[in-house]
Amino acid sequence: MTTRVLSVASECVPLVKTGGLADVAGALPAALAAEEVEMRTLVPGYPVVRAALGKEPEVLSERVDLFGGPARVLKGKLGKQALYVLDAPHLYDRPGNIYLGPDGQDWPDNPVRFAALSRAAAQIGAEGIDGWTPQVIQLHDWQAALTPVYLHDMGAADRVGTVTTIHNIAFQGLAPATMLSQLGLPSWGFNPQGFEFYGKISALKAGIVYSDAISTVSPTYANELMTMEFGMGLDGVLRQRRKDLTGILNGIDEDAWTPPYKTARGKAKHRAALRERMGLPDSDGPLAVVISRLTQQKGLDLLLDALPGFLEMGGQLALLGSGDKALSDAYLRAAERNPGVAVEIGYDESLARALVTGGDVILVPSRFEPCGLTQMYGLRFGTLPVVALTGGLADTVIPASAAGLAAGVATGFQFHPVTAQALSDTLAQVVDLFRQPAIWAKMQRNAMAHPVGWSASAGAYGALFRSLVKQP
Ligand code: ADP
Repeated sequence: MTTRVLSVASECVPLVKTGGLADVAGALPAALAAEEVEMRTLVPGYPVVRAALGKEPEVLSERVDLFGGPARVLKGKLGKQALYVLDAPHLYDRPGNIYLGPDGQDWPDNPVRFAALSRAAAQIGAEGIDGWTPQVIQLHDWQAALTPVYLHDMGAADRVGTVTTIHNIAFQGLAPATMLSQLGLPSWGFNPQGFEFYGKISALKAGIVYSDAISTVSPTYANELMTMEFGMGLDGVLRQRRKDLTGILNGIDEDAWTPPYKTARGKAKHRAALRERMGLPDSDGPLAVVISRLTQQKGLDLLLDALPGFLEMGGQLALLGSGDKALSDAYLRAAERNPGVAVEIGYDESLARALVTGGDVILVPSRFEPCGLTQMYGLRFGTLPVVALTGGLADTVIPASAAGLAAGVATGFQFHPVTAQALSDTLAQVVDLFRQPAIWAKMQRNAMAHPVGWSASAGAYGALFRSLVKQP
């Protein structure tokens, strides 16, 4: 029997993306079709999403007032599945980044904007839409995580199963307590056992406390979240819900990310093209690439420290990223000073692809990494991942340790602790193994054969959703 699941996400590929959450929300509906899960998706009607619906989309429901303005649910398509778009111009009809205003800061009314998304999701759970009622609602991150509170308030929590999926616990959706009534939240939940977090409202905590289950995007991150080091203040609540917390690894879209070569030998011409595109000189050392948000999380400050040694050993770096100004400035300076470093600041899908295709190794030195996608692109393209031993990076890469090499199973490099010194040591190993073509080619074959698609994880999600269906 088919299980009906509503996925609620603040971003979704191919419509709108700022990070990995969008990739997951976009990929799951198709991946789950084989699991007899019918997943439909609810997203906010940002201008790009509205534009994708065409001129006169079907209107499924209308209300006069949703947190200060009129709102409608419009119907579209996400691949073969239905897409529901929450059209509320007073909340979503704004230019630029979906979360940030022109000043680069969060929109001050973000708590309201995403409470509205959660409220609309709860209403669909309680009343159905389009002749369809979900049995389970999957809530992606804090932006959707108030849904179970509204469901409780609507008296529908015992009919609809809920799972909050944490893509990154660093984003918790905090709002001042004074917004309680503006967000339509019940006072019964505003206490330490509920969604209160040190005097504020925490949307993510609401999801953790009131959902039937919690999932996150890798088994290692699930364990890390329950520790003080990684739980960002929510480790205690997560420990209390230990038996309902699971880690399911993300996959990548294998059709969208297919290398233009059968074996990594085919890389040569793409490497040469990449060097030319980035203005890097020819070299017989390894070309390392980075595609990343430039933030403290991603550990790219460590790479700045490790870089001189790597360059001295004959390595090169091509980096694409955007984010912190101090980091981007530091990389631009490094590029000015070193002919072996090329840096592009911005967001560029085509360059991201060229980097994965042409690079020899892809660096992901994150301090924490819930799952991470770029190391999986690297595996599939024979661009060996060099990763910190944390989160999903630990779950996807088999390191070139003595044991990994002896058994002939290594697919990349892992370093620990997450320090510049450990990264430097690992980069020295990269240069060393790169000069041993037989070992390198074997690692590339292993990497390219490593499963990185959705099939295993779709099975795990299917089982999770079925377990959450509530009997009438
Ligand atoms: P996160 O979601 O924490 O940013 P992930 O590795 O899970 O990290 O996902 C990042 C996604 O965004 C990947 O698909 C990556 O290719 C893409 N990406 C990140 N930065 C850029 C950029 N500057 N240009 C193009 N794509 C980028």
